[in-house]
Amino acid sequence: MKTFYSHPREAANAFANMVNMHGHALRHNKSLRQGELQAMFDLVSCAGFKPSEIVEGQILEDVPDSTRKDPVNRSCMYKVVTGQRDHAFATGWLDNMLSYGLGFYNQEGLHDKLYEQLIKSTPLDPIRLTKEGDFLIESEPKVNWRDICPYLVTHTKNEDKIGMSIHGYCHGWLDLRRTTETHNALFCRACYLRVALPLEIKTYGELRNYIEEQLLVS
Ligand SMILES: [Zn+2]
Repeated sequence: MKTFYSHPREAANAFANMVNMHGHALRHNKSLRQGELQAMFDLVSCAGFKPSEIVEGQILEDVPDSTRKDPVNRSCMYKVVTGQRDHAFATGWLDNMLSYGLGFYNQEGLHDKLYEQLIKSTPLDPIRLTKEGDFLIESEPKVNWRDICPYLVTHTKNEDKIGMSIHGYCHGWLDLRRTTETHNALFCRACYLRVALPLEIKTYGELRNYIEEQLLVS
């Protein structure tokens, strides 16, 4: 399957229209039209999951310390497949997005709410740190399994202040620490990578822009 709407606003609108028209049908495993499958595929793609297809089915997962298995998707009887494998987290996320959408009795705000949730759910693009190809990647967002919609996690955004993050490939923790009168240093606890940053660089977006400029002039 290929993406039709690749812009998050368009993908969220198409999904909101589908929730309005046929959202409840997804609970009962009724066959959908191709356009509705496409709306789910586009939404999941825009959230950064890289699906291959969306197909009918339910995923069961082991419950820790028990012999029980619980369904990942309870509201949406469709699952996300990546390559040849079921993608449990993406399936749970799609399921939660449907539940979240169906929870709005005032349908006027539905499009905006689903769009906001999609943006929150989209991972931070990795940030290049050096000309050799070191990257900063966000740490995994926390999942609270007691939430009604636990899969609707909030990813790091460009506007967020730089905090704990991860060194790509190395997987070491990256910390930001004041080191001189004028600079902080971003350093990796595992491999000792060290990148000096002016004190003014406070957010991930500023870091991204600063390094891009540095790489251009070097
Ligand atoms: Zn490292």
